[in-house]
Amino acid sequence: MNRNLRKTVIAGNWKMNKTPAEAVKLIEELKVVAENKKNCDIIICVPFVDLPAAVEACKGTDIKVGAQNVHFEKSGAFTGEISADMLLELGVNYVIIGHSERRQYFGETDDTVNLRTKAALEAGLTVILCIGELLNEREDGITAEVLSMQTKKALKGLTAEQMKKVIIAYEPVWAIGTGKTATAQQADEACGIVRDTVASIFDKAVADATTIQYGGSMNAKNAAELLSMENVDGGLIGGASLKAPDFGVIIDAAQ
Ligand code: PEP
Repeated sequence: MNRNLRKTVIAGNWKMNKTPAEAVKLIEELKVVAENKKNCDIIICVPFVDLPAAVEACKGTDIKVGAQNVHFEKSGAFTGEISADMLLELGVNYVIIGHSERRQYFGETDDTVNLRTKAALEAGLTVILCIGELLNEREDGITAEVLSMQTKKALKGLTAEQMKKVIIAYEPVWAIGTGKTATAQQADEACGIVRDTVASIFDKAVADATTIQYGGSMNAKNAAELLSMENVDGGLIGGASLKAPDFGVIIDAAQ
């Protein structure tokens, strides 16, 4: 495996935090810590209502803006939903799909993750696709099967060309927002399993070029070790992405 074949991506998932005015304030702080950090892509995934303000505030910077979900239909009677075209028209180019909180609280399934992924890619968005095992699945020793199955279902029907716009975030559900982080070895092993699965679906070249992030309580203290692993090509960061100094340390660790 050659790490130089793929991009390192540091992405923040703000979850349901920050009003538009608060978002602009945080972005002003993030601009300082993100300046001239050329060795990784930096993305912030903000609540829908913050998107216009975030796109405007990030203009002329290296910070890219993403959403946290997208619907798979182009338009229609889907009250409360947002389409890929709506995001693109705002200047949004990234979207998180299949986050464990959406799977846990909003009925997201592997099938809807696949539908959303295909719709987002067809519209031209880049997808941050989240997968990860539950605690009981890890304890039962079925992490590899779960990750492989989720990856296969999410990527069903995609072309190798479309994979150029897919970032996979390996996020063990037991580590998200809990303060419990996977060890660097666990993260590397799991990202390696996902990469092998991508190779089995497509080929080694596609797998080698796919960015696979780790997410789950990554913070200023543990980022350097996690990001030093061969198969960990960046991070999807929740809590620590809301604190500019901490997010800055994580960006620096990715340099
Ligand atoms: C996330 O929201 O994807 C996440 C990893 O959250 P946290 O970093 O807070 O665990």
